[in-house]
Amino acid sequence: MTQRSIFLTSALPYANGAIHLGHLVEYIQTDIWARFQRMSGHELVYICADDTHGTPVMLRAEKEGISPEALIDRVWAEHFRDFTGFGVKFDHYYTTHSEENRELAEGIYKALRAQGLIEIRQIDQMYDPVKSMFLPDRFIKGDCPRCGAADQYGDSCEACGATYSPTDLKNPISAVSGAKPETRQSEHHFFKLSDPRCVQFLRQWALQDNRLQPEAANKLREWLGSGDNPDESELGDWDISRDAPYFGFEIPDAPGKYFYVWLDAPIGYYAGLKNWCAKNGRDFNAFTAPNSTTEQVHFIGKDILYFHTLFWPAMLQFGGFRPPSRVYAHGFLTVDGAKMSKSRGTFITAESYLKEGLNPEWLRYYFACKLNGSLEDLDLNFNDFVARVNSDLVGKFANIASRTAGFVRKLFNGQLLDDARPAGGLVAGSTMDDHQALEAVFIARAPAIAEAYEARDTARATREISQLMDAVNTYIDQFKPWELAKSGQASDLPRLHRVCSTSLRCFARLCVLLQPILPVVCQRARKEVFGLEPAQDDQAWLWNEIDWPAVGRVEVFGHLFSRVDRSQIDSLIHANIEG
Ligand SMILES: [Zn+2]
Repeated sequence: MTQRSIFLTSALPYANGAIHLGHLVEYIQTDIWARFQRMSGHELVYICADDTHGTPVMLRAEKEGISPEALIDRVWAEHFRDFTGFGVKFDHYYTTHSEENRELAEGIYKALRAQGLIEIRQIDQMYDPVKSMFLPDRFIKGDCPRCGAADQYGDSCEACGATYSPTDLKNPISAVSGAKPETRQSEHHFFKLSDPRCVQFLRQWALQDNRLQPEAANKLREWLGSGDNPDESELGDWDISRDAPYFGFEIPDAPGKYFYVWLDAPIGYYAGLKNWCAKNGRDFNAFTAPNSTTEQVHFIGKDILYFHTLFWPAMLQFGGFRPPSRVYAHGFLTVDGAKMSKSRGTFITAESYLKEGLNPEWLRYYFACKLNGSLEDLDLNFNDFVARVNSDLVGKFANIASRTAGFVRKLFNGQLLDDARPAGGLVAGSTMDDHQALEAVFIARAPAIAEAYEARDTARATREISQLMDAVNTYIDQFKPWELAKSGQASDLPRLHRVCSTSLRCFARLCVLLQPILPVVCQRARKEVFGLEPAQDDQAWLWNEIDWPAVGRVEVFGHLFSRVDRSQIDSLIHANIEG
């Protein structure tokens, strides 16, 4: 196996609100992928951070009567607590309000400017005369210029998907003061994405090496135009500046002008990596230089594809860095078939889920069952959630250990039989008995499960794993250890030992296969069921233990999973009802 080096990110949550279950789809998806890579022996650095700049943070801090710095510090701690609670294991969780980020943003801006890719233009901009500030697109509301839908934001229409300039909006009002905005002129800095160099680069980058999912690549073809002539692209230039007052980084040589938050947010991935490198004695350039052999992989929601597949790669390419290797988008979460709603209590915060005492690994497992690596939306159906957790995790998985371990402890002094491994391993096609055949199925199916993890198709991985759970339970039903134990025939004892040892070794293999999704319970199983230390540092199990897990005995252990009760869900929903 060639060891891969991977720099991985999830999108940066904005420092203006609580983490909810919709956010968690992405962090859980990324974390599962990260854990799978780590336990497969690859080097992986998973970086994330709070996205702290911009008008919403500035206005909220003002409303709370605190400084933006105090607000972002508080929210950072809340976000980090929630991610940790759900087992999301970043190598580093940083902030975009950092010196590293300022330096990197300035450096990229200057590099773009030196290549003639920055242009300063006078533009018409909406101004709130009551609040004395220019209004960001999201703080202007009005009617969509294309379809006429009412109450749309100043940058895009949720009804028809049109994107436009806020000055095009019909009947605009300021969402800050309610005043009718005036149009005023202001000098803005633009990144010339329409420059033929950018268009050419992006066309080439986007369509190579399976960087993007097919649906995303199609979107990009639409945005970039498909012709050979870069002048035919529809790509507009990107306005990267905002006027004071603004919470962010001031643009070099342009007093009173600030970088638009969306410029320094993705650069925050690099700032986090740089800070991690400094703390760990690693070379930042080895990850980010144009000739780097590290894979740079971004997990994002499909709503921010535009930023991550146009602006970000072009900023990196022309800013002196390497562009991303792959960008993977996921769909949105619905709850019981509908958009999350605060009035119905389905806008569920991560904090409330943990406070209500629900097991975070139930949700990790459920999301894993639903995520298939595409941009499709996924639905959290609570009845299905209850059924699946109870059936798969309690009824199938944990049950294997509780059906067999007692006999081994009582009759065989806790020792597992270890003479069943044929020399040369378990190879499909060779002659083997029923017990070996069950173990061989695991070895035969593991590569397909690994492939599904790699492709982020955890729906397929969990389906395959669930079939393996069924196979072990069927095997136990077939050999009936409880009957062997009380038959009184001496010849049944070795057989009982064999059946229980085989089942428990397969249970250990299920722990290997499930560890990316259920890190806590799989780690507990290693320690509490088998009395083993983690295989390596903080990896309880390694992927290659599928072949022959080194389990020698079983200990006395408690419940690995409790059942979820529908009443727990009802009280969670109740706790989230607002208004
Ligand atoms: Zn519209």
